[in-house]
This record gives sequence, C-alpha cells and structure tokens, in this order.
Amino acid sequence: MLYTELKQINTKRENLRWNAWGSLDSDFFYADKIGSLLTYVRHRLHLAEAITPSLRITDLRLPETRIKGANLSALQKIVGKNRVKNDLRERVLHSAGKSYFDVLRIRSNLLKSYTDAVIYPETENEIAKILKLAAQRDWAVIPFGGGSSVVGGVEAKAAGKKAVLTIDITRMNRLINVNSVNQTATFEAGIYGPDLETALGKHGYTLGHFPQSFEYSTLGGWVAARSAGQQSNRYGKIEDVIAALRMVTPRGLFETTHFPAGATGPDLNQVICGSEGTLGIITSVTVKIHPLPQERHYCGFLFPSFKAGLDFIRHANQTEFTFSTLRLSDEEETNQLQSFSRIINHKPDASLIARSRKFVKSSVENILLQANGLAGPKCIVVAGSDGEHSRSAIAALKKAAPQFKGMFAGTSVGKNWLKGRFNMPFLRNYLLEYGLGVDTMETAVPYDKCIEVHRAVLEAMEKQMPNSLRMCHASHSYHDGACLYFTIMFPIDSHAPVDQWLRLKNAVSDAILAHGGNISHHHGVGADHREHFKRQVGPVAWETLTALKKSLDPRGSLNPSKLMA
Ligand SMILES: Cc1cc2nc3c(=O)[nH]c(=O)nc-3n(C[C@H](O)[C@H](O)[C@H](O)COP(=O)(O)OP(=O)(O)OC[C@H]3O[C@@H](n4cnc5c(N)ncnc54)[C@H](O)[C@@H]3O)c2cc1C
Repeated sequence: MLYTELKQINTKRENLRWNAWGSLDSDFFYADKIGSLLTYVRHRLHLAEAITPSLRITDLRLPETRIKGANLSALQKIVGKNRVKNDLRERVLHSAGKSYFDVLRIRSNLLKSYTDAVIYPETENEIAKILKLAAQRDWAVIPFGGGSSVVGGVEAKAAGKKAVLTIDITRMNRLINVNSVNQTATFEAGIYGPDLETALGKHGYTLGHFPQSFEYSTLGGWVAARSAGQQSNRYGKIEDVIAALRMVTPRGLFETTHFPAGATGPDLNQVICGSEGTLGIITSVTVKIHPLPQERHYCGFLFPSFKAGLDFIRHANQTEFTFSTLRLSDEEETNQLQSFSRIINHKPDASLIARSRKFVKSSVENILLQANGLAGPKCIVVAGSDGEHSRSAIAALKKAAPQFKGMFAGTSVGKNWLKGRFNMPFLRNYLLEYGLGVDTMETAVPYDKCIEVHRAVLEAMEKQMPNSLRMCHASHSYHDGACLYFTIMFPIDSHAPVDQWLRLKNAVSDAILAHGGNISHHHGVGADHREHFKRQVGPVAWETLTALKKSLDPRGSLNPSKLMA
C-alpha cells in the first residue's frame, strides 16, 4: 500500500479523549522520549519543573442540563431513546473543540458553558424535525462532526438561547456512490477521514484530502470549515473538490446539483462551504476523486534563509509541474525540528560501530553544508509529488534549488515527515501536563507580503510572551501566495491562563490584519476570529452575510455567535 501512514481509528465516543487530542488507544510515537524532550524545552525556556495535570472528568462542575423531562422526551420521540445523550461524558466531549484554548479550559474547569444534550440523527428527515423543535423551544443548535475545530466552532455557546443542543452527525457516515465516469463520489457528511479513504481505496481512488487532523475530522466538518489538506497543492483545498452538496436548513433542504462548471450566478456550493454550521447541517457531499497514485516522491531541501526558501516555493508554484506538498520551515522551526529529531533518534545504548558510523555520516553532512554555504541557520523545505510525473517534478526542483542557494537534503526528510504527519499533535497532550502551552495561528498572504507578515507576527508573539519558542512554516502555497502557519510554545501563566491566551490571540490577529494577511487560511472563523473577520470583510459584506443567515435561519438557532451568526 502506498499510503502506509493511514490507519483505522476507533472514533467511538467512549474511546475519544475529552481533555486532550486523539483517542485513548493512540499516542505520540516517541512517548518514551518525552522526558528528554521536556528537559530540552525547559532548558530553552529557562523553566523549572512544573506539573499541571488535568482534572478528572468527575471533578468538572457542569450546570444541570436544561434538556430533560418533556424536552428530552420530545427529542427521543424523533430519534429514539438511545440516540439522545445528556450524561457527563457526552456533554463534556461535545462542549468544545481541540484548540489549545479549548483543551486548556476544559481540563481545568474554566469552560463557561456546556451543551445540554447531544443528539445523533441518521437521516435528513430527523435533522429537519430536530431543527424545527429547536426553533420552537428557542434552543441553540451546534452541528458537530469530529469536534476538531480550533476556532471555537463547536463551543456550546447559548448566546441568550434557552438551552444548547449539539447535533453529532457522525452516524451519517456512508459512501453513497462512486461515479468512475465523472470521477466523483458522494458521501454522507459525518464520515471520518480514514473511513472515507478506505472506502474510496477499495474502488482504486483517493480524495487526497489530508489535514493534520485527518484521523479525527469529518467530511462535513472539512466543508463547513473550509479546510486544507497537506497535499492541497495537488488535490486542492476542500472548496476546490466539491461537486455538489445537500444541507438541511430551518427553512428546508438546500441542495446543489453537480455541473462541471457554470455561469449561473454565484456558486452555491461556495455559499455553503465555509458556513461553519451557521446556515444548516450539511448532510451529504459529492467530491471529485482521483485514481490512487502508483508512486510518490517526498524529499527535503535546505536554504540559507526564509526569504530564499519562499522564492524557491514561489518558483515551484509558478512552473508547469504539479507538487503535492511544499512546506518551508523558518530558521527557528528548522532548528527545533533538528533538535527534536536528535533527541528522538538518540540511542544511548548504540554500539561503538553504530556510533562511529553516525559520527562519520554527520561529519560528511557538515562538510557538505559548509561547502554549500549552509553551515549557519537554515530553512528546510519538505517537497513531495504524487503520481506518474512525481519523479520528474522532484528532478525539476533539484535542478532549480541552486538558483536559490539551496541544496537537496535527501529523501529521509520526506519519509519521516510522511510517517509522522498526523502524530505531532499528540506531543501537545504531554506538554500541557507539564505547564507548557502550545498554540498555532495561521493566515494566507500574497508572496510580496509574506516576509512582512512573518516578521510582524513573530514580533507580536515576542512582545506578549518574551519567554517562548516562536516559529513558522509556509504550509500551503499557491501561484500567488502562501499560508504562513505559526507555532508558539510557552510557559502557561497558571494564575491567569485565559487572559494570557486572549492577549496573545488578539495581538497576533491584529498583526496579521495590519500587515496584509487574512484572519484564516484554513482553521476558519468560529467564535475566536469573529471580530477580526468582521473587520477584514468590512460593513457591506458583513451585512450581506448576516442577511443570508437571517434568510436561512430566521430564529438564529444555528451556531449563534460564530462566524456571522
Ligand atoms: C491537531 C489539529 C490539526 C489540524 N489540522 C488541520 C489542517 O491541517 N487543515 C485544516 O484545514 N484544519 C486543521 N485543523 C482544524 C480542524 O480539524 C478542521 O477545521 C476540520 O475541518 C474540522 O472538521 P471536524 O469534522 O472536526 O469539524 P468540527 O470541529 O466538528 O466542526 C467544525 C465546524 O463545522 C461545523 N460543522 C461540522 N460538521 C458540520 C456539518 N455536517 N454541517 C454543518 N456544519 C458542520 C461545526 O459547527 C463547526 O463550526 C486541525 C485541528 C487540530 C486540533
């Protein structure tokens, strides 16, 4: 199998972690090296040891559910007793997403509101009835797929409503059909990434949509939040692959038809894509699919600066070759990746022969780096291409690299990246246990503003948190610009962790808008970016969006206080 890094995940609700990323039976690949990694990070941040364990779920103080008695019976009448839940675990699991801010609050009992009940519909008809009831009872309704939102998209905000009902869509998870003439497939929206790829793989196809959250997120969530996979250079962002969809709204079914193209007014697929559960519940999506590639080539390149690396990926995007991934880390991120890799690969009990071989290898590498002017700080690019032209695409990159003072860095960089590409978020689970916060923020920027936004965001981060590790990579790139994806690692202020995060988030979002980025390339708007989104689009666009919202959801039940709701 080509996609060896894909595995099946048990996403049963009882197997999901309520206070961390992932499922109980999955872990950071290098859990045995956590001690050394922590020592390294603490040393870099001059930190003393700190232990900040999560509360137990039974220590959380939830308000009593407001959906009980006759309200509960009314829901049970629609879907049956077993598909309405209001026990502690279901409520906690469905009250927040998986951002640092969400996980921080939920594990320390700092979350302000919880959902009152969770319902698992299996048909559009059931959803229509649930929405009708919710409007009559004046409840807020939160659509929920994998719950991996990192912008407060599934947070249980009542926003003045009488109760909060979460609609978990994951029982609607079937492959409806594959059309190999058009190369499209239709799925119910609640299907998880691994299940979707497995189903398509049986027919010899792939969707090619692999966000880092792939294992724990759903097709409907991808469409609702306009997500980007790690191979979007080749397969497109999710909005590029939608052929048609269906969405149940409080006003009725909103359905689009598959046409290969159209000049029939604004594209209605794009009206729904990115609506983040504020207009209706997406129930099925027809997507464009591709034959499974027979080969793929992933490798690394090194450049002397972020600017040189950016020029290289711009060049690659502006040639006729198609790449799947072009991921450029800045100097700090490259440095951290190298340090982490050294720690992870350190074998204290290696034999003398193995140690000598390693010494010779690293001496040769150092000589090569020096000869190429890359002995100092450097920036790594992970480049990959899938399909029959992948070898020649990578060959073209190898040829171009010297023009940008870069050098080929071998294929193991690419292989290691593929192997660990869904696994890094598990590291955050451990860091949080030891007083270390990790957050990520991203934006899309035209090439001619990338360096300025890069500098401005890192400065804003440093101003808010001088004692932190701040780094960036260009995660996705296009003909005309790139997504800059920032990571910050910092000691959690245990006295005021919420204020600490709010200050950081606000400062970074201000810097992004002030210097020419948008408020999100792929995480979405949700609750966390709402005010900056409003500023970004301006009053006329804002009023247009709120008018659309009012027309499809006149009672304002769906995901209130998110996006434009
Ligand atoms: C560790 C980690 C890594 C991530 N990596 C990436 C990445 O590489 N690329 C990327 O784009 N994002 C990434 N994300 C963000 C997140 O995974 C995406 O936004 C994803 O699309 C959410 O899918 P989900 O099924 O989990 O949706 P949810 O989190 O359940 O919901 C997201 C939003 O969509 C709404 N929604 C969900 N399902 C439906 C539906 N059927 N109908 C209507 N509305 C719905 C929700 O109300 C919410 O507003 C990452 C998140 C984490 C925690």
